[in-house]
Amino acid sequence: MLISDVFQFAREGRVWKGVFPLSQMERLADALARHTGEVLVTLVGGVDDRGQAQLVLSLSADLRLPCPRCLQELAWPLAVQTCLRPVPAGHPVEQEELLDDDHDVIEIDGALDVQALAEDEILLALPLMACHEHCAPPQMRETAEPASPFAVLAGLRKKS
Ligand SMILES: [Zn+2]
Repeated sequence: MLISDVFQFAREGRVWKGVFPLSQMERLADALARHTGEVLVTLVGGVDDRGQAQLVLSLSADLRLPCPRCLQELAWPLAVQTCLRPVPAGHPVEQEELLDDDHDVIEIDGALDVQALAEDEILLALPLMACHEHCAPPQMRETAEPASPFAVLAGLRKKS
């Protein structure tokens, strides 16, 4: 999904709604435990009180992440809304705009790829590590635990 002129899209207050299959989002592949399902995307164009273009991007999806502790799937509902300020590529951005926490500046060079934008935002929203509240490592782990370095040393000493 490409928006050819995002500034016009914003000025005219247009709205785009759609879904992207998670299986199409290759950059997410490593982070997800399950690649079926869809991301619901809403992009709302508008103009702020200073007359500058803005885009409100809302994303929701029922993501499944791998739990690093038990290695099972963890349901992780994604629900984010970000306010973006599109600026033409190479256009100087005022310092105060970069420091503005309410808006993330995005450089626009030609058409806006909504799927790539959604993928960027999901990657930003994903937790570094998410575990189930209550779960235990698989039983296999305990038996496969490597011998402590001291035990290995003791074994070496006996041999010599
Ligand atoms: Zn777990």
